[in-house]
Amino acid sequence: MDAELTRESVLNQICPGFSEADARAIVELGPEASIFAILTLAKRVAELSGLVGKVDPSVPSGQMATFLKPKTKGRRKKPGAQPGHAGSRRETPKPDKTVTHSLERCPECSGSVSRCNSSRCRIIEDIQADSKPSVTEHVIPRYWCAQCRKKVEPVVEDALPDSQIGHRAICLAGMMHYLQGTTLGQILDVYNYHLHFPVTEGGLMQAWHRAGEILRPWYDGILEEIQGQAVLNADETGWRVQGKTFWLWCLASKDAVYYLIDPKRGSGVLKKLFRACFNGVLVTDFWGAYNSVLCLAKQKCLPHLLRDLSRTRHYHNPGGDWPEFHRRLRRLIRDGMRLKKDKQDLGREVYERRKGRIRKRLDELIDQGWKEKHARRLQKRLRRHREELLTFLDHEEVPPDNNAGERGIRPAVLIRKNSYANGSEKGAQTQAIFMTILRTLKMRGHNPVQVLVDALKSYVRSGQLPSLPAKITAVG
Ligand SMILES: [Zn+2]
Repeated sequence: MDAELTRESVLNQICPGFSEADARAIVELGPEASIFAILTLAKRVAELSGLVGKVDPSVPSGQMATFLKPKTKGRRKKPGAQPGHAGSRRETPKPDKTVTHSLERCPECSGSVSRCNSSRCRIIEDIQADSKPSVTEHVIPRYWCAQCRKKVEPVVEDALPDSQIGHRAICLAGMMHYLQGTTLGQILDVYNYHLHFPVTEGGLMQAWHRAGEILRPWYDGILEEIQGQAVLNADETGWRVQGKTFWLWCLASKDAVYYLIDPKRGSGVLKKLFRACFNGVLVTDFWGAYNSVLCLAKQKCLPHLLRDLSRTRHYHNPGGDWPEFHRRLRRLIRDGMRLKKDKQDLGREVYERRKGRIRKRLDELIDQGWKEKHARRLQKRLRRHREELLTFLDHEEVPPDNNAGERGIRPAVLIRKNSYANGSEKGAQTQAIFMTILRTLKMRGHNPVQVLVDALKSYVRSGQLPSLPAKITAVG
């Protein structure tokens, strides 16, 4: 077995309720696994007793991970300029056009209004649809509403309240970062030097957090929509937040993807994702947490089994009855997948007969008394998932593989490689919201930036998001 797999199975076993049998199982895996288990346990003990960070005074602080270092107690410098110093702020750019707004009806009560003498100016910088940067001066006159008995203003919908950066500049950068995996540094480069559009890392992050909060109803709506689908693929991968290991979960249907970043990798997360029984088919790999999900039917990823078979042969090359087990299981899986492919050309009767034969072969394989330990290990897995291996033959739209789930995870893995995940839990939240919405819009054939800009404008105007756009279906 390769090192990664061994480590994973060791980590799965070290948990509260760790028993002697678990310890023996780890020793069975060999010296490498035992050493890894002992080191892991020692690290956990150190973490629990608060020894981390002061284990050995001879270790230079530079060799310790920042997140393990003890928090310094020193006084924090007050932010901002020192008393008496002149303030410093972002330079106000020169406007290249001026827009004067006017108001006919009160935005709150729709009553008639009368013009006051005063007005104010607001500068909004944005990137236009033709990708040219622009600086617009908005002249906003004040009006008196007799019914509300207060001064009211026309709404400027091009940016969020109090923001100097327009929606398109924020959404375009968000698309580059959260959909394409461009790093913040690269985005700042493009904006500051090539587009002559000055932004800072903090400015962009803050704007994304705000937009993410506004877009949250869409994020929640996508989860709800996805739970009503007939077939769902699910997958998960490691993710780093503030230097700690989190998990990025992904649920994919035919026209939506939903991401969740959570500190846990167990069945508790799945309870968040599936609050009630899921009335469809769930396609996953063999990770145990998925066993807890209640649903109509399940399909386990068969290419995963094939990969496990060839890996076992490659690393262990077992003898005994393994070669026969290997050959029969591999043939069975391939025949099943081929049968599904040929379904169109076969009559219904022939298809049903062959399907029955494949099911019978699976039952025989599971019930036979295998001796070799790897054959027994896989036999146990087949037995546990007996009803979850051939579901794809019963349902037209269920695939025998988890490719859709893995396709959902892959772009996230690229982003993880580039930007090394999130610095805070809030950042992780915003990441999940943007990735979910941008990918879903793209799957549905929309221009994600345009849709987000329109949604934010409508939010500023009315305080409400429009409904999430459906899939564009080709008419022809
Ligand atoms: Zn009014």
